[in-house]
Amino acid sequence: MDLFEHQARQLFADHGILVPRAEVARTAKEARAAAARLGGRVVVKAQVRTGGRGKAGGVKIAADPAATEITARQILGMDIKGHTVRAVMVAQPVDISAEFYVSYALDRAAGRFLAIASAEGGTEIEEVAAARPDAVARVPIDPAEGVTEEKAAEIAAAAGLPAGTADTLLRLWRVLIDEDALLVEVNPLVLADDGQFLALDGKITLDDNARFRQTRWGAQPETYEQELEATAAAKGLNYVKLDGEVGIIGNGAGLVMSTLDVVAGCGARPANFLDIGGGASAEVMADGLTVILSDPSVRSVFVNVFGGITACDAVADGIVRALESVRLTKPLVVRLDGNNADRGRAILDGRAHPLVQQATTMDDAARRAADLATVR
Ligand code: GDP
Ligand code: MN
Repeated sequence: MDLFEHQARQLFADHGILVPRAEVARTAKEARAAAARLGGRVVVKAQVRTGGRGKAGGVKIAADPAATEITARQILGMDIKGHTVRAVMVAQPVDISAEFYVSYALDRAAGRFLAIASAEGGTEIEEVAAARPDAVARVPIDPAEGVTEEKAAEIAAAAGLPAGTADTLLRLWRVLIDEDALLVEVNPLVLADDGQFLALDGKITLDDNARFRQTRWGAQPETYEQELEATAAAKGLNYVKLDGEVGIIGNGAGLVMSTLDVVAGCGARPANFLDIGGGASAEVMADGLTVILSDPSVRSVFVNVFGGITACDAVADGIVRALESVRLTKPLVVRLDGNNADRGRAILDGRAHPLVQQATTMDDAARRAADLATVR
């Protein structure tokens, strides 16, 4: 689970990493009041779980509480990479003299952690790494040893960071370990004009396998997307929200992944995907369609099923019965192949629905779903 910046910020503060004073606001009026409490001039920051908010216009300085209200009104409701802004963080501005990048991430392939650090913080690290790979230091961390004072100094030195960042690097490691995180990232970690180091932005991905002891954030979803994810998870479905307009349902992770690629190859972007796994019963199909159709960015739905153990006629039965309980509001393109495909297709033909069409190949189905999603 990814945390919002304002949540990551709380964890940083709990572990002694300095952060600017800030408040979360859900309305422009609340933002104005927060600015007044914080001293007038503030930074208004979109709370969405994606990076590049600054570039998208989601991070703005406001000179006084009145300007904060106007700025917050502009940012609230904004769409940033498919994420709707439902809250802003209003923070005290910091006078920056240098911006750095520091993070720890689990390196699954290597069976250890990796510290990534750079003296060129502020912009997205992928861009720095692409343009100037030498500017990004990667230091492996033995999980049994963790980050010691020596290790923190080594990371800082490898990245050309001031020695004073070592304390933050040590504390950030405690955030990763104590909070069961898979990723902790501070970008930028800034050196303020007064000589202090502050975390100005934070990204934390918690390990969902440790959810049972991450009681802090509760089960309360904060956004509509999170609500959908939680609904899907409660029904045992694997749902992932993406940024495009084609809703995708498939059986099996491999097929779903290649479906995303084929749809992208047809010039459309997947809005989300849902892996219904091996069983595609009517109930599973109905639940899956309900979740996918609840995503307002979906303009067409592509159901891609390759019958293996699950026969296509059972899947088709599932779709037909799902159509009885779900009001179909978007065009649905179905591709059935594999075990009992002919019988499955016949069942769907028999239930002629004006919004449902079938395709025999994955490419053809993807093209149709992409066309349906991109026509204006
Ligand atoms: P991101 O674009 O989603 O990574 O959002 P950030 O929170 O990292 O903000 C983007 C950029 O805005 C930062 O890299 C800073 O350069 C700038 N910024 C954010 N907060 C402040 C602040 O308090 N003072 C100043 N001067 N710049 C800020
Ligand atoms: Mn940032």
